[in-house]
Order: sequence, then C-alpha cells, then structure tokens
Amino acid sequence: MKKPSSIKVIKATCPKIWLLPGFRAITFFGRIYTKTKADMCSINLNDNIDSNFKCHETIHVRQAEDTHDSWFLFYILYIWQWVCNLPLITIHKRAPYRLISFEMEAFFKENDWQYPMNGKVSLWRKFNALKLKEKRKIAKRYYEGNLPYWYVLNEYFKNNGEPV
Ligand SMILES: [Zn+2]
Repeated sequence: MKKPSSIKVIKATCPKIWLLPGFRAITFFGRIYTKTKADMCSINLNDNIDSNFKCHETIHVRQAEDTHDSWFLFYILYIWQWVCNLPLITIHKRAPYRLISFEMEAFFKENDWQYPMNGKVSLWRKFNALKLKEKRKIAKRYYEGNLPYWYVLNEYFKNNGEPV
C-alpha cells in the first residue's frame, strides 16, 4: 500500500471479481476499484484531473497526507466523525456521511481541479470545528432546499465567516 504522499493523482483498477452489487466504483487507500474496464480506462486515460469524481477522490488522498501521511489515521477519523454525526440521520439517511469534514471539503472543492494538485489540503480542519448544531443547519438547508451542496456550504460560510 502506497503512502498518501506518494500518490499524485488517483488511479483505477478493475478487479476480476466484483462483489458490490449496486456500486459502480469504490475507493480504498488511494485506489479506485471499478466494476467495468470502461470506467477504469476513462479514469486512467489522463495523468491529470479531468473530472469532479477524480478531483473528489484525489482530495481524500491529500487529506490522508494531512493526517500524518497515514491511511489508518485518516480512516479512523473518518469513521469517528460519521459516528458523531449519527444524530443528523433524522434529517436524511445520508446526512451523517455528507457532514463528515473530509466529505465537506471534497464536495466543496471538487469543481476546482487544481486544488489537490498543490500538495496537502487542510480546509477539512475548519469544517471539523463546526458544532453539531451548525452541521444540522447545513444539512437541513441542503436536504430541504434542492440546491447544490457546494452552494449551500458557500452560502453558510459567507453568512458565518471562515472557509473560502
Ligand atoms: Zn468523498
């Protein structure tokens, strides 16, 4: 397994056996596993970031670099935050996942393909400082407002200060 810092842009592999019905791809330890060869090829076609999906997943690699360059620490923090967000499940079943600070940064910046190309990222630390009460406000706005997630986050921080 490669250390986060040694992965520049995320790459895909297509395993022979696919055990995840309902999923097109899954990312683990800085590698995307796709169900089809076509998806693998379209991801690997370019050494640069050329899709929001690739950008999103590469941001997660840079975040793992920011957690002492450790996949273990990254996943522990990721799962711990999901557990802390569980009360948000009353708003939407996916809210505990959406409001994980790593996901907030990845969704917030996935349109900016240059973003994860400049080394470590650390905006997730600012999202991590949000209280559950504040996360509840963001989740409600997103799941009840029919607006893009990045727009909701941008709006929240325009009104309340911090992340840019
Ligand atoms: Zn993600």
